Amino acid sequence: MKILVVNAGSSSLKYQLIDMETEQVLAKGGCERIGIPGSILKAKGNGKEKVYEQDMPNHKVAIELVLHALHDGEIGVIKSMDEIGAVGHRVVASGEYFKKTTLVTPEVLKTLEEKTFELAPLHNPAAATGLRACMEVMPKTPMALVFDTSFHATMPEKAYLYGIDYEDYKNFGVRKYGFHGTSHKFVSAEAAKYLGKKPSELKIVTCHLGNGSSITAVDGGKCVDTTMGFTPLAGVLMGTRSGDIDASAVEFLARKKGMSHAEVINYLNKKCGVAGISGVSSDFRDLIAGAEQGNARCALALDMFAYQTKKFVGAFAAAMGGLDCIVFTAGIGENTPVVRAGVCEGLEFLGVKLDKAANAGKNTGAIREISAKDSKVKVLVIPTNEELVIARETAELL
Ligand code: AMP
Repeated sequence: MKILVVNAGSSSLKYQLIDMETEQVLAKGGCERIGIPGSILKAKGNGKEKVYEQDMPNHKVAIELVLHALHDGEIGVIKSMDEIGAVGHRVVASGEYFKKTTLVTPEVLKTLEEKTFELAPLHNPAAATGLRACMEVMPKTPMALVFDTSFHATMPEKAYLYGIDYEDYKNFGVRKYGFHGTSHKFVSAEAAKYLGKKPSELKIVTCHLGNGSSITAVDGGKCVDTTMGFTPLAGVLMGTRSGDIDASAVEFLARKKGMSHAEVINYLNKKCGVAGISGVSSDFRDLIAGAEQGNARCALALDMFAYQTKKFVGAFAAAMGGLDCIVFTAGIGENTPVVRAGVCEGLEFLGVKLDKAANAGKNTGAIREISAKDSKVKVLVIPTNEELVIARETAELL
């Protein structure tokens, strides 16, 4: 069976077509500037790449163009739409409405649109737009929703509750949900495979460090705690997100900066994090270059990021009562030795010992062990593959 994985943003649509027998990516690409002049689809298939500069006023036209690219004489990989067994849609937030991957029915679509949009106003409406476009263009193909939050559904109440009035949690669903679940699930399972152990035997902290970053405690293959919260704003500071901040500072900043509370939240999401601290960039490559040239605030941003990540590794080791493995993944986790070294430095008391040369080695795209041979805790770099998890979950559901 072939599964089409769709990740729709408000003006973008990324896709991969995956053959589930071999788990190989047959075709992939992305539409950009949907609904904006200058729309473009960059598509790969058959080992070739093709760029379609074509007007895409909406997501329906975008998905039609994607299907055209999948059939294209030059880069096409299928002969008929019937070859696509199902479509798996990435959805950021499920609230408490969906605990696992879910087949789309009219009722499910209604819940997605009526209940979850306010939980992720930037992401979930875009996912629903992509879903509706696919349903229109491929009316007979089963559609599945795969949530970033699902892997975190196993967190115990003591981990996901905030210290607020319990009735407010019950009435409004204000609690920690966690995000990047497909990535944490994938890399923790890969770590167990690599170590030749059953997931049930391992206590792992997975560090998904990218433009958005989250850290998760995976005990016996199940998530028991994570750093992102009610929204992806919580946890460590990120590219442009502040991470955890005293809620009282929101009201204080609103007064000082003459902003509404919504404007402060927007500021905390878009203007803060390492970009705000450094005043230079949200991109770690720029921060590393800046720090090397003596920019103290770039160095401070890198220091803060590693320090905050390290604190959560320690906290989650305590929460699990032990630690067997730390996994680094995503753009920064896979590519930035200086951050990995900063996170692991000082964790020797937990049994973490990094192999400096292995840590400094190039990203090969494969799993790399960067801990010393005699390190009690294994430290691994594992490339994430969220699309494959979405495809697997969709196939399993069918
Ligand atoms: P992601 O959100 O997973 O795509 O990660 C994006 C982040 O990864 C960017 O902020 C970059 O700073 C970082 N990144 C990607 N590639 C590299 C690299 N080769 N070296 C350092 N940082 C990188």
